[in-house]
Amino acid sequence: MIIDFHTHTYPDRIAAKTVGLLESRSGTRAHSDGTLDGLENDMRSRHVDVSVVLPVATSPKQYKHINEFAVEENERFSETHVWSFGGIHPDNDNYKEILRDICDKGLKGIKIHPDYQGAFFNDIRYKRIISYATELGLIVVTHAGTDIGLPDVTHCTPAMAEEVLDEVGPDKLVLAHMGGWQMWDDVLNRLCGRDVYFDTAFSYGQIDWREGASHRWQLLDGDMFKKIVAAHGSDKILFGTDSPWSDQEQSCADIEALDLEDVDKNNIFENNARKLLGLKLNF
Ligand SMILES: [Zn+2]
Repeated sequence: MIIDFHTHTYPDRIAAKTVGLLESRSGTRAHSDGTLDGLENDMRSRHVDVSVVLPVATSPKQYKHINEFAVEENERFSETHVWSFGGIHPDNDNYKEILRDICDKGLKGIKIHPDYQGAFFNDIRYKRIISYATELGLIVVTHAGTDIGLPDVTHCTPAMAEEVLDEVGPDKLVLAHMGGWQMWDDVLNRLCGRDVYFDTAFSYGQIDWREGASHRWQLLDGDMFKKIVAAHGSDKILFGTDSPWSDQEQSCADIEALDLEDVDKNNIFENNARKLLGLKLNF
């Protein structure tokens, strides 16, 4: 079974506009239309069994709609195999109430994105959110490292993640993009071996650039990817694609082609996600 722990969908009426905006901001090409239907089609043809959708509240008032929409998506899980997390914003003063509600709605976890939410990851507001989410047993996924669409200031560096691990001690924290996009030396120095998960989204393989992209970033090469897996442990790495920003099939093939032990690949593609999500996946 292949579980993609990091995907995005946008509501149908804004998907085309949002994908277009993000494409021009990042200089990269999307691989589906960004809708739930688009993701489901990809999963069918790409042999991905389950996708986790990570919505981001980019303003304090968005959490309500995001979390209601997530519940609607999850009600159709047995048919779509798409599971959505909830959203929360650091400016939500009633974060405890929101997190309890997310928990009551059965959402399993939240996504935060310090770059798009305008706060640093070691901000007291995030520490409070992560601490209470941990108490409630929720998974917290954060964007980590530089964001390709907002590269000037990085709001979640490995040093900030280290501080949060030391002070808050979350047991289900996921640092996306192999611990910190474009900051992988620092990930090796500060985070590998710590009690935290990384996802593989948009970290290894090729970026599909649009013509005229202003800055062409490099992803991890195979050796560095394997070095991080070896140093961190494959039991704390989750397969993710960042769909629609990578092609699910290509991302699977890239990792499949790496010379890693089968046990490591099984951990990355299935076992860790299965354990973290705790969903019934008998299909
Ligand atoms: Zn993402």
